[in-house]
Amino acid sequence: MKEFIPCECGGEVLALEYDEDDEVLYLSMISRSPHRWSWRQRFRFAWLALRGKLYLDDIVLKQEGINRMWFYLVEHTPEPKEEK
Ligand SMILES: [Zn+2]
Repeated sequence: MKEFIPCECGGEVLALEYDEDDEVLYLSMISRSPHRWSWRQRFRFAWLALRGKLYLDDIVLKQEGINRMWFYLVEHTPEPKEEK
């Protein structure tokens, strides 16, 4: 099962997928095509760029996105073990 979490700028989506067979977590950054953005997303993107808070290779998450990532990891990945 994949989880898709939108970046706060509206430009990308973070995709998380845990592969139980191989026990690996895939994190993918998917860029949205700008011509498919809503006016709200375009405004947000411009606002972040004006404030110097736009990083094209970063995913920016606020609390809702952090919650979604946290719940995905808790529900779909094994509990952490202390490394030896
Ligand atoms: Zn972004």
